[in-house]
Amino acid sequence: MDTAFFLRWIATVTERVRAERDHLTDLDRAIGDADHGSNLDRGFTAVEEALVTTSPATPADVLTTTGTTLIRKVGGASGPLYGTLFRTLGRSIGDVAEVSPEALADAFADALGAIMKLGSAAEGDKTMIDALAPAVPALKVSFDAAAQAARDGARATTEMRARKGRASYLGERSVGHQDPGATSMAIVIDSLRAA
Ligand SMILES: [Mg+2]
Repeated sequence: MDTAFFLRWIATVTERVRAERDHLTDLDRAIGDADHGSNLDRGFTAVEEALVTTSPATPADVLTTTGTTLIRKVGGASGPLYGTLFRTLGRSIGDVAEVSPEALADAFADALGAIMKLGSAAEGDKTMIDALAPAVPALKVSFDAAAQAARDGARATTEMRARKGRASYLGERSVGHQDPGATSMAIVIDSLRAA
């Protein structure tokens, strides 16, 4: 996968976050502060501009620019968390022109570790980790398998009680709502397949 692939991936995420903006915000209205869709849409719109302005030369440049822009533009917890995802992917992949599926899967494992550390969260806490963690081993199989695992993981958050983030203030009342962060993470992973 070359620079063009990674640009296509991020463009697909941008397009789909825009299309799902209101849905993501509605999910966040139920158990958060009703800004997840609008925050991410603003962030990825800024990413779209940054990628045109900087015309990145390598896959890692695409990922680092994406992560840095998200940290700068997206408020709340999701800016730093998504920023860490893309920046860790970039760092892990390193300065290469083409990335193998194995190297990308390893980079995602690094990114999962970095996000878990930053959020001090684990699987089952009803966060984006519940979509990302099952996708990481599935990436060793195929993008299709990873997309399916992320979607299933996001759906499974509906029955979880939130233990991290704003939704955790709701305690038992967080049960019955799909987590917005896990939902957007499933979009990010599924966009790999689409790209
Ligand atoms: Mg929010």
